[in-house]
This record gives sequence, C-alpha cells and structure tokens, in this order.
Amino acid sequence: MTARVLVVDDIPANIRLLEARLNAEYFDVLTATNGPEALAICERGLCDIVLLDVMMPGMDGFEVCTRLKGDIRTAHIPVVMVTALDQPADRVRGLEAGADDFLTKPVDEVALIARVRSLSRLKVVLDELRSRAATSASLGMPDPLAHVLKERGLQGKILVVDDRDSSGERIVAALRGEHSVSLEKSPQNALFRGAEGDFDLFVVSLGLKDYDGLRLCSQVRSLERTRQLPVLMIADLEDRKRVLRGLDLGVNDYLTRPIDRNELVARVRTQLRRKRYADALRESMQVSIEMALVDSLTGLNNRRYLETHLASLLQNVTSRGGSLSLMVLDIDHFKSVNDSYGHNAGDEVLRAFAGRVKRMIRQADLACRFGGEEFVVIMPDTSTSVAQSIAERVRAAVQGELFAIDDGARSIPVTVSIGIAESMGVNDPDMLFRRADRALYRSKNSGRNRVTADAA
Ligand code: GH3
Ligand code: MG
Ligand code: MG
Repeated sequence: MTARVLVVDDIPANIRLLEARLNAEYFDVLTATNGPEALAICERGLCDIVLLDVMMPGMDGFEVCTRLKGDIRTAHIPVVMVTALDQPADRVRGLEAGADDFLTKPVDEVALIARVRSLSRLKVVLDELRSRAATSASLGMPDPLAHVLKERGLQGKILVVDDRDSSGERIVAALRGEHSVSLEKSPQNALFRGAEGDFDLFVVSLGLKDYDGLRLCSQVRSLERTRQLPVLMIADLEDRKRVLRGLDLGVNDYLTRPIDRNELVARVRTQLRRKRYADALRESMQVSIEMALVDSLTGLNNRRYLETHLASLLQNVTSRGGSLSLMVLDIDHFKSVNDSYGHNAGDEVLRAFAGRVKRMIRQADLACRFGGEEFVVIMPDTSTSVAQSIAERVRAAVQGELFAIDDGARSIPVTVSIGIAESMGVNDPDMLFRRADRALYRSKNSGRNRVTADAA
C-alpha cells in the first residue's frame, strides 16, 4: 500500500534523509520547510500522512498539529511528530496537540517505515469512515459513526503476555489506570484467552523465557478468531531483526526497552482507537449489506435479494431435475386502506401482512416484499398442488382475522389475491414471473381474495 507522505522540517538535510528512506519503500514524498507551507498542502488535500518536525522557527510543530486537528478539512490526516530523543515531554505534548504517533530523532528506519505503513492503513479506514459520514449527512441522517471519530482509546481490555515477573508487572502497572489489564505468563493460555474474544489488545514480550514471542504473534495473526486483535510487541534493543519480522507478520506496533511509560500509554491508546474505528466500520458495512437486501418496513428480503436468489435457486433445482413454485401476492384494494385510514395505517397493515405470510409458509420457503403491496414467496422443491394449499393457507390467514391499525385502536378487514406458477424444469426466472403474474391477474379479475395457479 502506498501513500503520499508530507515531510515537514526546517532543515533540508533532515528532509532529504527521510525522503530517501520513504522513497526506497515506494511512498510518494512531498516536502515543506515551514508550518504555513505544510498547512497549505494539507488543506489542498494533497497528502495522506504528515511527518512533522517539532522545532521549527516561526510556527512550531505543536502549533501546526493543533491547527491541522482543529480544521475539519485536515483533522483526519494522521500526523507523526518527529521529536528530539532527549525531550520525552515533547511526545506527550504532541499527543495532546492531537498527533497520532511520534518518532524520535535520529529517526530509526524500522520505526519510520513501521509507523508510516500502519498510518497509511489507518488512513484508508478513516477515509472510509468519513465517506460514510458524508453519505449519511447527505441523506439527512445522523451519522452513526461520528462518535467513533472522537474515540480516545481508553478503557480497553488488555492482555500482557510476559513470563518475567517484574517486567510484566511494570507494564500492567503503567496501563492499569486507564484500562482493565491482565497478565498472562503462558503463551498457549494467552492464545486461548485471545480466541475467547474478550480482549482489545495484546502486549507481547519478545523476551519470553521458554517461548518465541514472535511465534505467538504469528499465531494470533493466523487464527481466525484473533486475526483482528491488535498486537504491540515489547522488544529489546538487540531484537531489531525480530521486530522487523514481527511487523512483516502484521504486528501493529512495538516499543523498545527500557520502556518509556508515557510512550507505552500513548501507543496503547492509539491501538485501541484504531481497533475501534475498524470495528465500527466493519459493523456499519455489515448493516449496509443487510440494508441493501432487506426491506426496512417489513423485515422481509427485498426485490434485489429475491432476483439474485431466485436465479440461483432455479438454476439449482432445474439442474437436479426438480422444480420450484413461485407465489405472487397482491393485497386487494390496498389503495383504499391508505385513502380511508391514512398511510400509517397502510404501513401497519403491510407489516402485519408480512408477519402472517411468514407464519404460514415453511422454513425453506423464502418470502420477499417485491414492492408496494406486492409480495413474492419462493417455494423450492414444491409442486403446483402443494403450492396451492400453502397459498390457500396464507389467503385464509389474511382473511381470517382483522388487521389492527392506529396502534390497535381499531381493526379492518384485508384480503389478498394470489397467483402461482411452477417452474417445471424451465430455468427462466422471467417466464416464471410472467406466468405467476398472469395467474394473479386471473384471481383479481374473478373477484379477488382467491388463489389461482397458472396452467403452464
Ligand atoms: P388491487 O386490488 O387491484 O390490487 O388494488 P390496489 O388498490 O391494491 O392496487 P393499486 O396498485 O392501485 O394500489 C396500491 C397502493 O399501495 C398504492 C400505494 O399508495 C400503496 N402503497 C405502496 N407502497 C406502500 C407503502 O409502503 N405504504 C403504504 N401505506 N402504502 C403503499
Ligand atoms: Mg393491490
Ligand atoms: Mg398493486
């Protein structure tokens, strides 16, 4: 995955160094030598990630970051503060200014690439969240994801995997104030507990006594149940190669001992925020997939779903030499329900009607709202005569009991006309529909409230 990275530094030699390293990893690099220039590039939407030097004459990095995060046009762009190694307080200040990550000078190549890569993945998620927010807003709906963008990354459930007492306990102590933290000494148990699905983050020591911490990281990544679980590695200085390997395996981030408490706290928060973005996005995608296939008034599948599904069901039964029956239902004189009692009453009838249809058909049958007051039921492996008796059951259930309207204040009679056709070995959804429609038309013409089968 590539990204456009803006490098901001007042010293050209620093820019050239970062530029060369980023170029070697195929990132596109833009540069700016002062704050106002950087802001202008960001406002024009030209970059995906900003690497921001702290110490610059005029407008310093903190101020640039504060401005970027305070402007809706640029707030979503991930910012990495590049701070001097001997200024640990700067890191915290950077995070307070809204920075997403920080790097220390002299910039370590592994750290640079790890963080830029992970931020470019983050940017993809953030862009998707933003475009969904924009869609909701343009439809006049409140954005269900807006709150996620304010996520601060607190109160996570964290498992620290470390079998060396003092080091594990130090990590737990550092995180306990903001999160619920457990310590696990056995990597096998850790994997098991992770798969139970209760944790938001694993913090894994690479210096386990009898186990390769990297192996645990790779197992977490490959198990279906833990694949999405963020992992933060705790490495020793000499672990550089293993850190690289871990990042390749998909580990999200790392820290090097001796652990800077503030850095640990900050990196954990960052991972939690990102996980919550991704979770919210996945959930919202699931909802939109469902919305695309389900009718919101009745909860039945909609026409789009029906059309796709009918084609494949028909294909399936025909190839087996079987047949399916199609039932088309149309409520009688429904227009007069709306005209006499109002549109809301009409909606109540539609909902209750859908419920009765569903109760009267079999598990394997599929009911859909085709549109308006027309419904369709697909009945796999069903002959015309069986379909007819099911349709008759539905018709009788509709006529048999009045429909409550006005929240139960009164009730009205409703009837339905039904047409049926059996596929008879013909794999043609359109023709099947035409035949069922023709039968429905006959039901309507011969007095409504009845079932007619197409004679084929
Ligand atoms: P017929 O017996 O010939 O089927 O007569 P009908 O009145 O049922 O048929 P027509 O197609 O003339 O009218 C259908 C009505 O259904 C018109 C439309 O306003 C109403 N309708 C369609 N969708 C909805 C809906 O979602 N809610 C409500 N309340 N009414 C709907
Ligand atoms: Mg009708
Ligand atoms: Mg109609």
